[in-house]
Order: sequence, then C-alpha cells, then structure tokens
Amino acid sequence: MGRQPLWRRVDFIPHITYFKPTGVPAAHLQEVRLSVEEAEAIRLKDLQGLEQEECAQKMNISRTTFARLLGSARERMADALLNGKAIKIEGGNFEMALRRFRCDNGHEWDVPFEVMINSPPQFCPTCNTPSIMALWPWGPGWGRGGRGRRPGGGYNW
Ligand SMILES: [Zn+2]
Repeated sequence: MGRQPLWRRVDFIPHITYFKPTGVPAAHLQEVRLSVEEAEAIRLKDLQGLEQEECAQKMNISRTTFARLLGSARERMADALLNGKAIKIEGGNFEMALRRFRCDNGHEWDVPFEVMINSPPQFCPTCNTPSIMALWPWGPGWGRGGRGRRPGGGYNW
C-alpha cells in the first residue's frame, strides 16, 4: 500500500457553503456536512466531466481515494436532497492550489501553492507596494483548511 499524501489539492472553494430546504422548521432541520474535498470531487467529476484518473491527479490523491471521496460526496448529497436535509460545505484536509492576493491599490493576482511555500509574496508585482493581503479563500493565513486553523486566522471553520 502506497503512502497517502496528507493533503488533497483543491482548486476551488464554493462561495455559497450552505444549502437549506424550504419549509423545514429550524428545530427539525438536519444537516449533512460535505467537506471541501468532497465538493471538489463532485466538481471535477460531475460538473467538469473529467475521468477519475484525471481528477485524482488534480487533487494529488490516488484513484482509490478519489473514488471513495466521490462516493461519499454523492451519498451525502443524495441524503440531503431526498431526505430534505441542509448541506453545509466545510472543513477537510486540503490545500489550495492557488492563493489570491490584493494590494492597497486594487491590483489582484494569484500565487500558486508551491510559490506560497517557498517564497510568499511581499510586494505587489504591479506597483510594488508592500501593503498586500491574501484575499482568497479567506482572510489572513494561507492554504490549509481543516487542521491548523489559527485563532483569529479568518477561516470559517
Ligand atoms: Zn499593486
């Protein structure tokens, strides 16, 4: 059995992360949790129509792991749709393939994960101001969801 990489790679985090059926009183509402990786698995396979092999490569995981991820994602979505449960997309173990930055003068640019690790940007590449901030996925801190959220680090989970 090969070594499993710890982090799954994710290119996209949905902006809307909560779905709720209408007509269900909050007290009776049950919630299904979909991890960010599961959402990504659905996006790559079902929305973009890629082959499993390709999806697995993009997420930096084995095909078996991808198949399992996709299976649980579909199961949870089916459970939510058919049983009238809310879906909350959150958490998981993943790294963003890209990180988006913006400077005080409004320039925005993307920084690949590999660059973030080796030399996180200090200046805006367009106007050279050091007043830059990470925009995306959320706030300060970078890259890794689930584990490692830091106090006040701006992650939603
Ligand atoms: Zn700038």
